[in-house]
Order: sequence, then structure tokens, then C-alpha cells
Amino acid sequence: MTKNASETEPADPFKPYKGRFTSHDVIPAKGRHKDELLEELVAMAQEENAKWQTGQVSGTFYHAGDEHRAFLNKVFALFSHENTIQFDLCPSMFKMESEIIAMTASMLNADAVKTHNPQDQVCGTVTSGGTESILMAMKAYRDWSREQKGIAAPEIIMPHTAHPAFDKSGEYFGIKIVHIPVSEPDFRVDPGAVEARINANTVAIVGSAGNYPYGLIDPLEKLSAIALKHNVGMHVDGCLGGFIFPWLEKLGYDIPLFDFRLPGVTSMSADTHKYGFALKGTSVVLYRSNRLRRHQYFSVPDWPGGLYASPTAAWSRSGGLTAATWAALVYLGEEGYLNAARSIMAVADRIKAGIEKIPALTLIGDPTFVISFRSEELDVFHINDFMKTRGWRFNVLQLPPALHFCVTMPQALAENVAERFLDDLNAGVDYARSKAGTVAETTALYGLAGTLEGNQQVTEMVFGLFDHLYSV
Ligand SMILES: *Cc1c(COP(=O)(O)O)cnc(C)c1O
Repeated sequence: MTKNASETEPADPFKPYKGRFTSHDVIPAKGRHKDELLEELVAMAQEENAKWQTGQVSGTFYHAGDEHRAFLNKVFALFSHENTIQFDLCPSMFKMESEIIAMTASMLNADAVKTHNPQDQVCGTVTSGGTESILMAMKAYRDWSREQKGIAAPEIIMPHTAHPAFDKSGEYFGIKIVHIPVSEPDFRVDPGAVEARINANTVAIVGSAGNYPYGLIDPLEKLSAIALKHNVGMHVDGCLGGFIFPWLEKLGYDIPLFDFRLPGVTSMSADTHKYGFALKGTSVVLYRSNRLRRHQYFSVPDWPGGLYASPTAAWSRSGGLTAATWAALVYLGEEGYLNAARSIMAVADRIKAGIEKIPALTLIGDPTFVISFRSEELDVFHINDFMKTRGWRFNVLQLPPALHFCVTMPQALAENVAERFLDDLNAGVDYARSKAGTVAETTALYGLAGTLEGNQQVTEMVFGLFDHLYSV
């Protein structure tokens, strides 16, 4: 049935367009007019753009400005119909992907790997996103260790703050994932605690640069030494920080070593679709040696449909994304990335300094572009409730309760974001003080996890939400 926009539907916060735009649950018998469709889609896009163009949304929207975005869309259009895997028909695709991989590797100091053996040089693939990059690396460790060490029940050790994509790889590929809690006050993993959990089944350890909750870099130098000592792999998740820490380092920020300069690092993920400022849908996974990358590849040589082989989890992927990613790197250049990093940090440093002046709030670790804070005396979830009413969108953290704001280009491009942020945050602190002893709205969503029963309740709730979102 095709529902008409004039029908009134009950208000549903997850379906704000219900009743306002035509919805379809069957393909319309006769196609609708282009102009009418574009009118609806433009209205939706404009409404959604208005939310982040103020600079009030944490992370999420990664691009280097309107002109940059328009340029990438133009490049996308040239190759949107091409398929990256068709190397014979579309040779531009492997040309561009090989260069994306090489440029990313060089940014992450692949040159530090000194070898004359072409099998032992940094190499990688382009994937559809950070999650796929991580999944592919974990699969490579599982299969490499089975072949080289006869490990049948593989285990991977990660800080609890590392991304859930690692847990996903555990569930998908039958790898046991061992979580190491991070310790206060610095909220980074204790290398000794990681080492204590290494056993004969350990195939790799994980560190983040930086982690999603706090943007912090784990003690990677120590983890690297531990990986070498025990002859296990080490993955550095640079999905978030891989395309910004290299520039922060060049700008003179005190950034510890996090890339292939650490001799124990055997793989890395870095998202072109975050601080690489490409369109959404690309990431790079890198390996210290082709011996590992080989275990990512997949083939079914005797398939009736032809000789099937695939380097990543996906087979077909849009050439538009590959071309736009390549264009983002080459168009911005080092100069463009340095300028972006400089203007992002100008906002982030002001926000950080402002939070330091609020006695009720405590910064988590020594933040750079992701600023996380918690409070000993107030419920930060009350602060989140208040900031929402002012149009701010934080990421809510738990265990312990905290909030983070990830600074991206929209903050650098909008006017006076740091000043507006701090004015509202100070008002939010007053609000939280006035609400002391009451339960914040945010708590209803985030106060449950942490116990087995709570975790089951939260899972049921979010799966139910997916079901609801997937209903027309
Ligand atoms: C975003 C992110 C990922 C996952 O990346 P997707 O591209 O969203 O799949 C992994 N690790 C960290 C630290 C991230 O911030």
C-alpha cells in the first residue's frame, strides 16, 4: 500500500518523516516524477544537514567543507557505476586502490620496515569501512596462526575500550576475545595485564590509536615489545586516529609512536572515511607483510560461475567510492590535511582548556581531538539532557558514565563553536546541580549495561529498535 502524506500518523521520535513524506511498501506501479522525488529528498537532506552545520554534533560527519564535498560527489558520479573488482574492464580501480594503500602506508611510516624482501613490505587492501578492515585483519591472524602454529582455538586480547568490531570478528570467525579493563586515572590499558593473559592460543593483541571512547592512544610501545617477545601479532586500530595523528605529530603535538615504526605492529586499520575526509564507505587495512595479507584473500577456484576470488569480505563495491577516496587524498595533499588538523585542534584545544576550568568536571586522560569528561559530584547524564535541548549531540559513554565530543571539520567551519559549547556546558553544569538526586533521561537508556541481566535487557531493547526502524 502506498501511504499518502496527508494521513496523520502518531508521533514517533524514530520516524520523524512519517505522515510528512510519501512512504512506499511496494514498488510503485508507475514510477514517480524525478522532480517530485528530488523535492522530497532535498527536503530530507536539508533538514539533516541543518543539525550538523551548526557544529554541534560530535564526530559523525567527516568532510573538509562544502566545496570539498561537492568535488568528491562530482568524482563519485564519474565512477558510480563501476565495480572495483573488475580489473579488466575497470583498470582505474586497482590503479587508484593500490595508490590509496601506498599513500596510507607511507603516511603511517611503512618506510620504517627495512627489508629487501618484497613479501615483507607493508601492504594492504581498501575495504568498505573500519569494521571490515578489522574483521579482515582478525581473520588473517586466525588463518595465519592455524597454518603457521597449528592454533585451532585462537584468542585475541584487547583493551575493553577497543572497538566492538573486534568482538564482532570473534563472533563471526570463532575467535575468543579477551577483554582487559582499562585502569584509572589514565584510562589506557595496562600492558602487564595484557601480557598476563597471553597463552599458547593467543594469535594477536590489539591497541587503539586512538580509542573511540576517549580518543586515547594505548601504551603501544610496550604492547609492541610484548608482541615481539611472545611472537604474536599486534593490530593497531587507527580507524579513528590513523588519518589525524600523523598530522598532529607534524604540527608539534606530543603524540607517542603508534604506527609501523613500532617493530611489533603487524597490522593497522585507518579510515579514509573518517579523518581521511573521503565519502562514507571506505577504509584501509595494512599488514607488515604480504604473508599476512594472503590470509585475507579468499577463492573458490571450481565454481560453475567462473574462477571466484575476492580480496575482501565484499565482492562488488562502487567505483565511485574508490575514486572519491583517491581524489580526497590527492586533492587535499599533506598541506590540506595539516590545515584541517590545525583548525580542528584550534577548536578542540579551546574546548579542553574551558573544561579544565570547570571544577565539577574531570577530563579523561590527556585528550587531543576527542574530548571526554566525567564528574565526581554531578550526574553527567543530566548535562547531556540539558545540552540536547540546546542542540548539542554528544556521544554518551558508560562504565564509568562520561560524555565525549569528537571535533571534526564542521566544528572548525561553523562560527564560535568552542565559545558556544562552553557557555552551554557551564549552564548544563548548573542544570545538573539543580537536578541532583533525580534520574536523568539519558540514564533510562544508558544506566542498564554492565551486569549480565542488564546487558541482556539492553540487547533486547536495541534489537527491538532495529526491528522497529526496519518497519515502513
Ligand atoms: C569508527 C571506528 C571503528 C569502526 O569503523 P566503521 O568505519 O564505523 O566501521 C573502529 N575503531 C574505531 C576506534 C573507530 O572510531
